Amino acid sequence: MATAPVEIKNTLAVVQDHTRVFQDLVFVYPVISRRSRGLSVGVNLNPDKRCNFDCVYCEVDRKTPGRAESVDLAQLRRELVWLLRYALDGGLATQAKFNEVPELTRAIRDIAFSGDGEPTMVPNFDECVQVVADVKRELGLTDTKLVLITDSAGLDKASVRRGLELMDAANGEFWCKLDAGTEGYYQLVNRSFVKFERILRNILETARQRPVIIQSLFLQTKGAPMPPEELAAYCERLNEIVRGGGRIKEVHAYTVARPTPEPWATKLTKDELQAIAATIRSQTGLRVEVFD
Ligand code: SF4
Repeated sequence: MATAPVEIKNTLAVVQDHTRVFQDLVFVYPVISRRSRGLSVGVNLNPDKRCNFDCVYCEVDRKTPGRAESVDLAQLRRELVWLLRYALDGGLATQAKFNEVPELTRAIRDIAFSGDGEPTMVPNFDECVQVVADVKRELGLTDTKLVLITDSAGLDKASVRRGLELMDAANGEFWCKLDAGTEGYYQLVNRSFVKFERILRNILETARQRPVIIQSLFLQTKGAPMPPEELAAYCERLNEIVRGGGRIKEVHAYTVARPTPEPWATKLTKDELQAIAATIRSQTGLRVEVFD
């Protein structure tokens, strides 16, 4: 099942297309993801589109209602088994959406808790993880990672902590969002009622238990990239996590890929993003991967 990493160009239509609707499935969807380096099967625990952030770059269309109010575990299981088998048996490779990269659809790089909101807001996160981990094991997908893509606001909840431990035992990987170095910039970009301090504490506590990946979206706000003093503060937050005993496997730095709901929130140039990544490397010594 394991495949060598391949370069997946940002220009592929299937990479640009991150729609979370496939056929009539409600809780799962397939995407080709550059950061996953291939096929990622998304698990949408927020079909109600709930989130505790309101990021200026969020692509979730909240003008239209969600497709379900809560997660039906039996349906989640049925849909996941069907989609994983469909990929493994070659069915996904025959779909027009994947005709640029059919060879990538048979190797399931990861199953990712992601979707139309923040996965840790679901009240029974641990039960959801258990269902997905069971299916992964039953299908023999040992090398497939189980990824949590999170804004970290709910990482201190009891059911989430239990879920993280279940993920640890199932080849789990944890991608924690960090787009700012100060409360002010966090409120500008992520616009949350959750205090920045709590986000940082949750990342630190989680990273003390297992390595995490920091995923950071950098963008222009009103025509200007992140100010140097904010970038310095961001680097210092990373250093504080490491000094506090947290393990950061790497940083994923990326920028806006599609139009944002706020016209003043726009994409960085490749050079601007590379310059930010170089600063993070030099100020923290961490490995930084750029997805421009
Ligand atoms: S955390 Fe994700 S889902 Fe929530 S507002 Fe931000 S981008 Fe959207």
